[in-house]
Amino acid sequence: MQIEFLGATREVTGSCYLLHVGKYRVLVECGLIQGSQTKERHNRDPFLFDPKRIDTVVLTHAHLDHSGRLPLLIKHGYKGPIYTHRATLDLCAIMLEDAGYLNEKDVQWENKKRERKGLELIEPLYTREEARKAHQHFRSLDYGKTEEILPGVQLTLRDAGHILGSAIAELELHEGNHSRKVVFSGDLGHRGAPILRDPEVLTHADLVIMESTYGDRQHRGWDKTWQEMGEIISSARAEKGNILIPAFTVGRTQELLYIFKRYFDEWGIGDWEVFLDSPMGIEATRVYGKHAKIYDVEAKHIFEQSGDPFDLPNLHLSQHSQDSMKINRKQSGAIIIAGSGMCTGGRIKHHLKHNIWRKQAHVMIVGFQARGTLGRALVDGAKYIRLWGETIQVKAHVHTIGGLSAHADQQGLMDWYHHFEKRPRVVLVHGEPEAMDALAHRLKGEYRADVVQANFQQKLPI
Ligand SMILES: [Zn+2]
Ligand SMILES: [Zn+2]
Repeated sequence: MQIEFLGATREVTGSCYLLHVGKYRVLVECGLIQGSQTKERHNRDPFLFDPKRIDTVVLTHAHLDHSGRLPLLIKHGYKGPIYTHRATLDLCAIMLEDAGYLNEKDVQWENKKRERKGLELIEPLYTREEARKAHQHFRSLDYGKTEEILPGVQLTLRDAGHILGSAIAELELHEGNHSRKVVFSGDLGHRGAPILRDPEVLTHADLVIMESTYGDRQHRGWDKTWQEMGEIISSARAEKGNILIPAFTVGRTQELLYIFKRYFDEWGIGDWEVFLDSPMGIEATRVYGKHAKIYDVEAKHIFEQSGDPFDLPNLHLSQHSQDSMKINRKQSGAIIIAGSGMCTGGRIKHHLKHNIWRKQAHVMIVGFQARGTLGRALVDGAKYIRLWGETIQVKAHVHTIGGLSAHADQQGLMDWYHHFEKRPRVVLVHGEPEAMDALAHRLKGEYRADVVQANFQQKLPI
């Protein structure tokens, strides 16, 4: 038995691992490479294996850095099933189709430029239609139920607490009389996060493949984070401005709605009009609403009491662009949640244009902002921003709330590994080199663990 590391090695995106078990090949994750244009070009590189010869696919969760190349895998001849949690199946239906749509749009734009230069035209990575086709390959599972996905290969999904449906994949592999248990952490959630349960702990494994996104960081406590958020909302109310919140449509958007509901009276949310200005955010919220079975105790309680933990009496869902444009007229009293999460596109850019130059406006940054994005420029204190060729002065207050993370911090990762008996070998993936180094150092120091930092295309025996 063998494992090959074909993505998310010493970086965060592009998760992809190939297991060889006897005559079978199991692909775990088939994610998109995200980041700079140069990096993203690698999504077009041919797969490092023949998709026709893969027997089965396991997917831990819906984020595109794990799922985003599945339609491409199918386009190149993969015919088998994709095993994942049933909520992931629902989220992927939205997210992959949206990715297909964006691919088509990007290529239209790129091809216009190419045509003018007399260059050869390019095809989208995959289309919306191709993304839809991928959906037929999905097979849904529940947490804790073991399924034989190939002769000699058993899969059990455990709750990873990262986004709805996210899973730790526990694989039992048998080859002749050789049996091994391999555990993929997937992306591990942040303990105490709203809506979701904490990541499940496991005690047995022969090999652990573990994410290390925040291997070098500790998050601030939840109480402090909520306090900070409440304070921003009350100061914005005193100044009579709008609050703009750029948010990722899956996960963060639902957390915000949920928290607004939880602190509805305390924060005076009833005095505002709350807009969810994102068609995809609205759809994702519906999917979250459908899977109450996998909420944590508190969210289940709210669900039983009031039916919908994401609904507020003053919540407006803006489906169409006309609804979105109407919000532009509001100069105060609106809390606007819109994508994209890093202000690189989507409706948030329009709201920034209409508000960022007003000193009474507030922008609340609630997610990670990558270098080079408009969101990052705001966090770094830019005095002016450029939107559609226009220079706009930044007068609004920009607040960064750091504690809202969907990933475990260093201590969370250490504690998760702590539960494994006999300290199995651990391979670190899904992290920048500094984060991996810091986590490896602690794992070796405190647990004397055998730690490997996976390199691209590295093969390890199991
Ligand atoms: Zn993720
Ligand atoms: Zn990820």
